[in-house]
Amino acid sequence: MELKTLGIYGPYPKAGGSACSSYLVRTASAKLVLDFGAGALTRLTAEEDVGSVDAIILSHTHFDHVSDMLPLTYLMELRPGKLKVYLPKMKDNWYLKLLNSALFEAHEVEAGDKAEINGALVEFFPARHTVPTLGVKISEGGKSLYYTGDTVWFDELSEYVRGADTVLADAAKPLGFKGPHMSYDKAFLLKEASGGKVILTHLSPDFDPSPALDDKDIEVAKEGKVYFV
Ligand SMILES: [Zn+2]
Repeated sequence: MELKTLGIYGPYPKAGGSACSSYLVRTASAKLVLDFGAGALTRLTAEEDVGSVDAIILSHTHFDHVSDMLPLTYLMELRPGKLKVYLPKMKDNWYLKLLNSALFEAHEVEAGDKAEINGALVEFFPARHTVPTLGVKISEGGKSLYYTGDTVWFDELSEYVRGADTVLADAAKPLGFKGPHMSYDKAFLLKEASGGKVILTHLSPDFDPSPALDDKDIEVAKEGKVYFV
């Protein structure tokens, strides 16, 4: 399985050609996209024909994770077929109303749900954020990738990531950060809990935690980089 970062910034992209949260996951049989923030569409279409993507999985509906779904609508109008979209179930799902049902096959999911998408097992886990948000585990061929979505640290997270070969984590904020994301020191907890590698993402445009990290199993995401899981 390989993970390619399409966009890594939040809550807005860094100046000069970067993008917000979006990740392309290629398994032996499936192509999945995790989140689709600002700038994701041009990065995805540079990699893949949209028709070859099996599903887009949205961890939650904050704009920095979903905004390029809107111009994607116009692209979808010009091509046959529907694109599968998985998103958290929520009361009065305002975002679902934006997804034209003629163009997208929407699946509302919640923690504990599982889906098999073209040979890849996708499992959904709880996250703690300001809106309904899901962690996503993708497993294939004995390897697994856990994406935390946006979340603060909570103790159960260490159970959810256990055994994951790679954890893609919303954990790039400065120490003492008060918002609904993890500070970079949580990378060490995630590494210990998973026993795998940790990639820190959802970078603030004005803060890079790299100088504070010196661990071969922890790295800060770079845009356009391919990671082998
Ligand atoms: Zn968010």
